Amino acid sequence: MRQNEEEEEFQQDCGAGGNEKGLGEQEGQEAEQSGFVQSDEKGVEMIQTRFLFGRRSMRCLVGVHRDLARVAHTAINITPVDFGIHCGVRSIKEQETLVRLGRSRTMDSRHLTGHAIDVHPWIDGAIPWDDWPAWKALADTMKRAAEIEGVEIEWGGDWARFIDGPHFQLPRKSYPA
Ligand SMILES: [Zn+2]
Repeated sequence: MRQNEEEEEFQQDCGAGGNEKGLGEQEGQEAEQSGFVQSDEKGVEMIQTRFLFGRRSMRCLVGVHRDLARVAHTAINITPVDFGIHCGVRSIKEQETLVRLGRSRTMDSRHLTGHAIDVHPWIDGAIPWDDWPAWKALADTMKRAAEIEGVEIEWGGDWARFIDGPHFQLPRKSYPA
């Protein structure tokens, strides 16, 4: 899969933090050529698509709350369009940098506690930054995955101010830090 190599090249905007935990090649990265229907333990029928997370996405999930990680894994199984994860847990230093650059507005970010991830569609080997419908479609997939997993999530694209298309988080009220 070329996706993994290209993902590595994509400029990370939040740093790997403490995420380098020696995750090697993921088993079966080359396998899974689409088409069959799987049933998970809850009996939900899911179409197994051809997409799998690359090493970079897997590294970004290290330290992320297991409920949110579960949603991401289910989403990659059901998504009709490939996507990746470019940010999971951030250190305070990384967050300070993003605030200074105006890429984040708060030092109270849910990334600091492992309650947020940033994801991006991956279309024709690129991130379609200006293609809002692609981000909306990915959000629909994430929300569907959250429904399947019985996990409540919030999408930054639904926020009235400082719309944050890549951002998904567990709600503060049900998941206090
Ligand atoms: Zn975010």
